[in-house]
Amino acid sequence: MAENIRLEVVTPEKSVVSEAAQIVMAPGTLGEFGVLSGHTPFLTTLKTGSLKYKDETGRERFVFLSGGFAEALPDRVTVLAESAERRVDIDIERAKAAAERAEKRMQSGSTDTDFIRAKAALLRAISRIQLAETR
Ligand code: ATP
Repeated sequence: MAENIRLEVVTPEKSVVSEAAQIVMAPGTLGEFGVLSGHTPFLTTLKTGSLKYKDETGRERFVFLSGGFAEALPDRVTVLAESAERRVDIDIERAKAAAERAEKRMQSGSTDTDFIRAKAALLRAISRIQLAETR
């Protein structure tokens, strides 16, 4: 059987995942990619979306990511995300409230910056809701 890789997902606030994984699938800006043990090293930016991995028992696990960077090495994947939480930790009501706030801001935003920020917040909220609702 193939060797496991080490998966680390960290944000500026906390370590979200630090465990062995059989495979990691992550939302790269150029498309979703998968990493198994022995992968050629690469570095990529990430989109807002969900990272999926199989833990060492083969169970699928999901983590929300709001952009950032990933480094893949033959025995390790390190994700530095702006924010991240495991699917089980997603608060759906909070995400729904964030989506509503963002929609209001997009309608009333006074500057382009307000609009772009609100759109990014809406995308985070929708991604969280979608991921949490697949539980
Ligand atoms: P909000 O407006 O609700 O804070 P946000 O998209 O602006 O949402 P982020 O900046 O992405 O929030 O995240 C800030 C912190 O709050 C991070 O630690 C993140 O994991 C956590 N977080 C944000 N939204 C949720 C949620 N719906 N459920 C669980 N944790 C969340």
